[in-house]
Amino acid sequence: MQESKVDVLIIGAGPAGYMAASWFARIGINARIIDKRSTKIFVGQADGLQPRVLEVFQSFGFGDRPLKDASIGYEACFYEPDANGKIHRVGRKPEGVVGISRFHGSVIHQGRIETWLTDFIDEWSNGKMKVERPILPETLEIDESQISNPDAYPVTVGVKKLADNDAEPEQYGSKIENGLFRQFDWDQDRNGAVPAESREIIHAKYVLGCDGAHSWVRSQIGINVEGETTDYVWGVLDIVPITDFPDIRKRCSIHSASDGSIMVIPREAGLVRLYIQLKKTEHIPETRSAEERENDQKQGKTAGPRVDRSKITPEAILETARKIFAPYTLDVAETQWFTAYQIGQRVAAKFQKLERVFIAGDACHTHSPKAGQGMNVSMMDTYNLAWKIGHVLNGLAKPDILSTYEQERRKVAQDLIEYDFKLSRLFSGKPGEISTDAFREVIDNGAAFATGCSVNYDGSIIINKPEGTDSTIPYNSPLAKNVPIGMRFADAKVVSQCDGRPWYLNDRIPSDGRWRIILFPSDFKTNVSLNNQLLDIGAYLESSDSFIKRYTPPTEKIDSIIEVLLVHASSIDVVEWDDFPHAFRPRYQDRRMDYWKIYADSESLREISGQAYEKYGIDRKVGALLVLRPDGYVASVTAPNTEGVSQVAAFFDRFLIPL
Ligand code: FAD
Repeated sequence: MQESKVDVLIIGAGPAGYMAASWFARIGINARIIDKRSTKIFVGQADGLQPRVLEVFQSFGFGDRPLKDASIGYEACFYEPDANGKIHRVGRKPEGVVGISRFHGSVIHQGRIETWLTDFIDEWSNGKMKVERPILPETLEIDESQISNPDAYPVTVGVKKLADNDAEPEQYGSKIENGLFRQFDWDQDRNGAVPAESREIIHAKYVLGCDGAHSWVRSQIGINVEGETTDYVWGVLDIVPITDFPDIRKRCSIHSASDGSIMVIPREAGLVRLYIQLKKTEHIPETRSAEERENDQKQGKTAGPRVDRSKITPEAILETARKIFAPYTLDVAETQWFTAYQIGQRVAAKFQKLERVFIAGDACHTHSPKAGQGMNVSMMDTYNLAWKIGHVLNGLAKPDILSTYEQERRKVAQDLIEYDFKLSRLFSGKPGEISTDAFREVIDNGAAFATGCSVNYDGSIIINKPEGTDSTIPYNSPLAKNVPIGMRFADAKVVSQCDGRPWYLNDRIPSDGRWRIILFPSDFKTNVSLNNQLLDIGAYLESSDSFIKRYTPPTEKIDSIIEVLLVHASSIDVVEWDDFPHAFRPRYQDRRMDYWKIYADSESLREISGQAYEKYGIDRKVGALLVLRPDGYVASVTAPNTEGVSQVAAFFDRFLIPL
């Protein structure tokens, strides 16, 4: 039997697993990713990308791919029955939240998204990290005596390689792919029959369970899920429609008088996804004992009546859709995929065991797909987690930072479940029972949450908020009134000091594992004391006492752990390159000058920019000093002077490990 060691083993190659692998590839962590299925997915499942995830893709360097390939949402419409019971348009609004991000919610098949992530992983791992499939884990043990030893591999996972034909998706006997693809339960559905295989024992420092709603990892580490399933059943069709419905290329919510509701999601390549409320469904006869049902519930399965999904056909779903669409007609040029799901909301009681085995994505939270959140929140889980594990593995940070994963992401999961609970009940209710106003209010109130941009992490070892801060509302320092600490750093346009090129500031802050200090030194050129503050900060950063030197190995580039950027508010015309301390225009070991750390909040000669200070709520006569985490969340805001710098030093001291 083979035996091997790896720093991180990712189990499950869905969105959560791919995002984790992307971070690990990007920051050079020794990781492997395995999946029990023989192929990636080609059709169906998730398709909605929210602005925050698009921002993350941009920060990884492939934000242009959704722009080229996806269907981008600009408008949403609402349809209700008129006095004669016929549906008609009652409202039109912008899709999402105008101005919250430069990216708009976009829709494209999950398989394509996984391709972008695969390409990214290939590029950054030099082709070394590939999804290994079909591989099924069988055993997982944690040696608790070793968990405080950073050099140990305390988690042991036994896996077996499966034959390809035993890892294919189930089919209903039709050519159209169906939604059982991911829900396939190996041992149960195949009676434990597995082909001849090679086995391997993998010793890992960390294991990530990204293995979906019925997570095997979750059950191995004894984590239960909390929540329940409803009786609402929805069908999903991915079709190329033939219709006279006027808004088929806009996102629509349609409530019919008595045939249920539909949500219309325009997609790439002429496809449209329809979510259709199904009124008549058959249930599987109950054979489980009360104990088995209770156990199923703890494992994220349904304790109540289970819908017999094998009785739900694409034709039957289409028939229901036609009734809801009437008086408009609906026919189909092509059906690409269908599924049916029973709405439920569940969240795992814990997201980790001993901070050595973590779960993420659907393994932590499941809900209805209508809000288009699951894939996004799943990716953001591991976007939150993987850099932290990377920091600990690289000896940069104390393992204490790992506890912030559950603290930060469980709250997001609970908010998500609450949002989905409200939304899915409104969608599943009848127009008479639920007013259009109430429905739109929930959509409007939840719109910011649904973009992913309003996530607000609590104070912690890596988020410097005063103790007792109310976590339900954004907390801002008076120095930067629109830069909430704990939230993602919003974008603004600035102008590069060296060449006058306008930039989105966040495009200068890629996800590459580094911390960022952004100094806003104000309109320093017009005021001697502000100018002196800037020179003092520069002198500190270049000194041997500086927190940068404290954590950066002398053999590495000076900006390799913490990068320092500057956005000033003086006119470019009155500022010269030499006005800035060397800390902001470093020369590296090879004597090259780095020109790309100094920006002006100034009018560009070529296009409109120059409102960054206003946008961030920073006084042009005062300034501010920001610290951003490697995942782009604001960690600290202090004054742009030596006192503020000392506070930043004390902040880093809490969790970074000095040389
Ligand atoms: P999954 O995508 O389920 O991936 C888990 C992976 O783990 C799979 O590849 C599986 O093969 C593998 N695996 C499972 N068990 C094991 C094991 N024991 N060993 C090894 N590998 C294992 N979300 C959105 O954000 N937007 C949408 O528009 C959207 N629409 C949806 C529409 C439908 C019809 C459905 C069903 C879901 C939709 N979702 C949507 C939800 C989204 O698909 C999931 O939330 C998302 O895929 C979860 O990602 P994940 O990586 O956590 O899990």
